[in-house]
Amino acid sequence: MSELPVADLDSSVESLGPVPVVAVVGRPNVGKSTLVNRIIGRRQAVVEDVPGVTRDRVPYDAQWNGRRFTVVDTGGWEPDAKDRAAAIAAQAEIAVQTADVVVFVVDVTVGATDVDEAAVRMLRRSHKPVILVANKADNQNLELEAVSLWSLGLGEPHTISALHGRGSGDLLDDILNALPSPPPIIEDGPRGPRRVALVGRPNVGKSSLLNRVSKEERAVVDSVAGTTVDPVDSLVEMDGEVWQFVDTAGLRKRVNQASGTEYYASLRTAGAVEAAEIAVVLLDAGEVISEQDQRVLTQVVEAGRALVIAFNKWDLVDEDRRFYLDKEIDRELKRIPWAVRVNISAKTGRAVDKLAPAIRRALASWEQRVPTGALNQWLTALTQATPHPVRGGRAPRILFATQAGVAPPRFVLFTTGPLDAGYQRFIERKLREEFGFEGSPIELSVKPRK
Ligand code: GDP
Ligand code: GDP
Repeated sequence: MSELPVADLDSSVESLGPVPVVAVVGRPNVGKSTLVNRIIGRRQAVVEDVPGVTRDRVPYDAQWNGRRFTVVDTGGWEPDAKDRAAAIAAQAEIAVQTADVVVFVVDVTVGATDVDEAAVRMLRRSHKPVILVANKADNQNLELEAVSLWSLGLGEPHTISALHGRGSGDLLDDILNALPSPPPIIEDGPRGPRRVALVGRPNVGKSSLLNRVSKEERAVVDSVAGTTVDPVDSLVEMDGEVWQFVDTAGLRKRVNQASGTEYYASLRTAGAVEAAEIAVVLLDAGEVISEQDQRVLTQVVEAGRALVIAFNKWDLVDEDRRFYLDKEIDRELKRIPWAVRVNISAKTGRAVDKLAPAIRRALASWEQRVPTGALNQWLTALTQATPHPVRGGRAPRILFATQAGVAPPRFVLFTTGPLDAGYQRFIERKLREEFGFEGSPIELSVKPRK
C-alpha cells in the first residue's frame, strides 16, 4: 500500500470552470477531519480556531494533479441529539446536496452500523457519486476487515489510514475521476498584450485619445514576438508596456461618424468589448451623462469586462461644471461606484499617463482570487453580525461560499433557501469593502439546497 499523498496547494494553477465540491460525510469519530487534513495538507488556517466559527461544513481549497476542488468537512455532527440517526442524516444531507462527489467514511474497526446504513439510504436518494472509504485500516488485518463493507452496496471500499498516512494514493485519483469533467486546459503560452476596448458614444474623443497615446508614446509597434494581431487592432506602447487596442480600424478611418447611427455604434461597441479584457469608456466631461453613455456602460458591465471610465475633455471643465459633474456622477454612476475613474484630456494630454496604471489596477481586480478559507471566515463573521432578515418566521442561512472563477470574479453562495435581493446586494457591497475588486464587476449567485 502506498503512502496517502497530500494534495498540494499551488496557487499558480488556475481553474477555469466552476470549482467542484467534495463533501466528506460519516459518523462522528470515523476520522473525517483527519482525512480532510490529509487532503489539504494542513496548509490552511484552521477555521476551528477562529472564535464563533463552527466546524459545520467548513470548506477548504484543495488541489490534486493540477485540478482545484473544494473539500467540505462535515465535522459538526450532533451526537447528543435525541434522534441521533436523524440528526446525522440531516447534517449529511446538507453537505450532500451541495456536493458534486461524496466521500463516505466508515470506521473499519467498528464496521458498518445502523447509522451508517441510514446514511447510505440517504446517499442513494441523492443520486450523487459516492466513494466509500474504510478508514483506520492501520494494518493488514484491518484491511481485510474492510471486505465486510461491500455489504453497504457502495462498491469497493477504499482502505486507508488517514492518521498514519497509510492508504491508497488512488483515493484522490478516484475522487477526481468522479468529479464533473474538467474544463479544457488552455496552454500557458506567452501571453499576448492585454486587450483594451476604447468605447464611448460618437464625439467623446476616442480617436483623439488613440492618436494621443500613439503619438505621445514612443512608437506604435507593428508586431510583438509570438503574437498575431488582428489588422483591425492597434498595438500601442504606454507606460513601458505594449497594449492591444481592439477594433480601432473604425476609429482611425473615422467611419463611426460616417455611418453614425446609434445602432451601428452599439454593434461596434459590443464587438470591441467582446474582443477585449477591459473597456475604457470615454465620457465627455463637458456634457451631461446621457442615456447613450449609460448604454455603453451597461454593455461593458453585462459582458463582465473590467472597466475604467475616462472623463475626457477635462480641459473644458471649470469650477461650475465640476460642481454639477460631481452631482451627476453620484446620481448617474451609482450602480458602478467601483469603476476606476480618470480625468483626462486627449487634446492637451492632461493625465493621459494615468490611463495605463488605471487599466492595470482594474485588470488585477478582474483576475483576483479570494482563498476559500478567508472568504468563509469573513462571511461567517458578517452573517453572524448581520443575519438575513426573518421572513414569515424563517431566515435562510448561508452554508458556505466559494469563488467559482475569475475574469470576472464569480462567487457562489450555498444557502438553505433563496436570499432577498437586498441582502444579496448587501453581501456584494461588503465583499467589495473587504476584498476590493476596484474596476471589476463581480458576480454573486445563490445555490439554495433543494
Ligand atoms: P471525525 O469526527 O469523523 O471528524 O473524526 P476525527 O478526524 O476527529 O477523528 C476521530 C479520532 O479517530 C481521532 O482521535 C483520530 O486521531 C482518530 N483517527 C482518525 N483516523 C484514524 C486512522 O486512520 N487510524 C486510527 N487508528 N485512528 C484514526
Ligand atoms: P470620437 O468620435 O469619439 O472618435 O471623437 P473624436 O476623437 O473624433 O473627437 C470628437 C471631437 O472632440 C473632435 O473635434 C476633437 O477634437 C474633440 N476632442 C477630443 N478630445 C478632446 C479633449 O480632450 N478636449 C477638447 N476640448 N476637445 C476634444
